[in-house]
Amino acid sequence: MKAFQYGRPKNLAEATKLRGTYKAGGIDLLTRMKRGTLAPKSLIEIGTLQEISFAPYLKNGDLWIGAALPLAGLLEAKQKIPSGILQAVAGTATPQIRNTATLVGNLLQEKRCVYLCDPEISCLARGGDHCPAREGHHADLAIFEPAACLATQSSNLAPILCALDAKFVEIKGKNPLIPLRAYYQAWRKGGSRPSTPLIHSVFLPKESLRGGSAHHEIRVKQSFDWAIATAAAHILLEGDTIQKVALWLGSVSDIPYRARVVEQALQGSSSPNFKASAKLLSQKASLHSPSQEWKRRMAILCAEKALQKAYANAKENR
Ligand SMILES: Cc1cc2nc3c(=O)[nH]c(=O)nc-3n(C[C@H](O)[C@H](O)[C@H](O)COP(=O)(O)OP(=O)(O)OC[C@H]3O[C@@H](n4cnc5c(N)ncnc54)[C@H](O)[C@@H]3O)c2cc1C
Ligand code: SF4
Repeated sequence: MKAFQYGRPKNLAEATKLRGTYKAGGIDLLTRMKRGTLAPKSLIEIGTLQEISFAPYLKNGDLWIGAALPLAGLLEAKQKIPSGILQAVAGTATPQIRNTATLVGNLLQEKRCVYLCDPEISCLARGGDHCPAREGHHADLAIFEPAACLATQSSNLAPILCALDAKFVEIKGKNPLIPLRAYYQAWRKGGSRPSTPLIHSVFLPKESLRGGSAHHEIRVKQSFDWAIATAAAHILLEGDTIQKVALWLGSVSDIPYRARVVEQALQGSSSPNFKASAKLLSQKASLHSPSQEWKRRMAILCAEKALQKAYANAKENR
């Protein structure tokens, strides 16, 4: 690891005056620094700032959650948290990691690809001129809207928070409320993570707290690894009819993937067929080679299960 300066502001006001890379839980950041794939000159410790580590609370019916709240804090929250968020957190890594990793740190973690872990390997994501994953290991990489770089955004929290139309609340931002969906689009467009001012919290509008939500994931191992595919759904019912449905997938594209084809098939349905609707994703998959076929199947299964669970949750919450 290369030497760096370390700033430990006492409060938020001090933190905003410092220049450097924010360190929250450090799980993503320090791993990349130890590997030698990232070398910031200066780190600013924000994981200890109480002002941005607050537990979820309701104001005028909307939900606010501190950016630096450890993931475990969401599971312990007294406030009612949408089921989909709780399921996504419970599936993330290990209890030890969930005690340290923060909400916004999880959403901003680097994309995943084995070649990105080795600083000696040149590739498009590092300004090189080719992608070794195309001839090499790519079975677990992007299968929807694949870009030149096939690395995937694998945050567990990203799909469910996109489905619930969450927003980042920036400190000192020109427009302090940034929709998460727009943030990831900007990430795709720019090819690398857009720089942000310090993020203070995550905001969920009251409409997102209505209805039912769910997260479903499939992994090789129970923990200690990221999922092969995840899906998150949010459903609003009017009687037995689906009034509104959002379905987002994770670990399958460079940013969370919105399954519009499935949403359109289910909108207005009073006897939804989740299996048949999820299968529509098949036509949208774009496989780099037959070795990705298993991942396509896992993504479809995740979508079906997340929809079933969100529908049951919406019925319970009526
Ligand atoms: C073994 C293992 C298994 C894992 N499995 C999973 C998994 O299954 N699912 C999953 O989703 N993740 C998984 N992870 C990843 C882990 O959840 C993330 O690395 C962690 O959530 C990152 O949060 P952090 O607080 O440590 O972020 P940091 O490493 O501190 O920061 C990450 C990035 O976010 C930026 N940042 C953080 N907070 C702010 C803020 N408030 N404002 C502006 N910028 C900010 C930092 O500058 C940095 O660029 C796993 C990790 C390990 C080591
Ligand atoms: S998929 Fe992306 S990160 Fe992985 S080797 Fe190719 S260009 Fe690099």
